[in-house]
Amino acid sequence: MENKGFFGKWGGAFIPEILHETFEQLDSNFRQAKEDPQFWQEYLDLMSTYSCRPTPLTFAENLTNHFGGAKIYIKREDLNHTGAHKANNVIGQGLLVKRMGKKRVIAETGAGQHGVATATMAAKFGLECTVYMGEVDVQRQRPNVFWMEKMGATVISVKDGSRTLKDAINEAFRDWVTNVDTTHYVLGTACGPAPFPEMVSWFQSIIGVEAKRQILARHGKLPARVYACVGGGSNAMGIFQGFLDSPEVELIGVEAGGKGIDTGRHASRLCGRDASPGVAQGYKTMFLQNNDGQMLETHSVAAGLDYVGVSPILSHLAEEKRVRFASATDDEVIEALDLTMRMEGIIPALESAHGFVQAFKEAPQLGRDEAIIINQSGRGDKDIFTIAHAFDDPSWKEFIIARGKEYAEDKKGKS
Ligand SMILES: *Cc1c(COP(=O)(O)O)cnc(C)c1O
Repeated sequence: MENKGFFGKWGGAFIPEILHETFEQLDSNFRQAKEDPQFWQEYLDLMSTYSCRPTPLTFAENLTNHFGGAKIYIKREDLNHTGAHKANNVIGQGLLVKRMGKKRVIAETGAGQHGVATATMAAKFGLECTVYMGEVDVQRQRPNVFWMEKMGATVISVKDGSRTLKDAINEAFRDWVTNVDTTHYVLGTACGPAPFPEMVSWFQSIIGVEAKRQILARHGKLPARVYACVGGGSNAMGIFQGFLDSPEVELIGVEAGGKGIDTGRHASRLCGRDASPGVAQGYKTMFLQNNDGQMLETHSVAAGLDYVGVSPILSHLAEEKRVRFASATDDEVIEALDLTMRMEGIIPALESAHGFVQAFKEAPQLGRDEAIIINQSGRGDKDIFTIAHAFDDPSWKEFIIARGKEYAEDKKGKS
């Protein structure tokens, strides 16, 4: 790369002066680690004993027969520790923190999944951990807050702005500026200032390396297409890297279409018409923003895809037409999830189900001798509140109401 930290015209590191030295240190440690085969070996060992790597590649035989086209394979990132690909990133950064000799980590989290993964890593590595989370998200994601605190992390509820993810990110940067010497910021996706997009993608490349080996062993040739959902872009970058150098493999990123791409209630940056180039949160990419650069409200049934920016690497790959982008609406996602649960006994996360939607649309167009891979970034049982609500399940509602009553009576009894 000629221009450090840029991918085409995207990316860069737009950071305050006070963080320059820290970024230099992070960048040089990352470069050394990347050159050091022992570092990657230590990473693989840890991922195979603490997480569940290599994760399997599952042949979805019933779905394949149902659609009658390409063979559908599912890469099972849901089987990682804490239930998603996020473990790949946090464990990798944890090893870098050890290398840099820092004792404290901070993180931002929206839905709380990255917060839980970071708290897990911090507990395992004996690091102090603070997680920033918007007040609205703290209220919406109580189970994840509960687990973070139980694993010893301090969760700080951010009351600025819209009290969601972008405000949590700003607050995490503020903390970092104050505590640069002792603290590493564990960024959760392939976004933010360089070297984060490249570094997070590198740790996630473990998905694509495995998937390529597995599909060749099972299918005897490369897949025709690979599908992944795109929030910040880390699971997509992870699996795509196994196939980027094989132009015959088409790569498809699926964004949150929310209520519909024309309703303004979505989070589609690369396939909609509502995003434009901008610089925010330390990097240049396509942002959902108005003409004054004010970030727009986003919407998705999947909390992990609900973000205004996207990996600068994906903005570049979109421009180069190496990755094609599509979107899936909330309704389509629930339908694909329903079908996958019934036919395969697998529960994808709402985020992952976006990839399934597009794969299901395209599988029938391909020949039976072709294969496609869907990256199942995470497991859906974490989404039980949202999924049960979306299915409008009456017995679930009764259960929640009964539980609420029980707690209320308990509280009355004590006071
Ligand atoms: C966080 C999350 C995502 C979105 O993040 P990316 O960086 O785009 O991968 C997708 N799926 C699951 C299950 C997640 O937890």
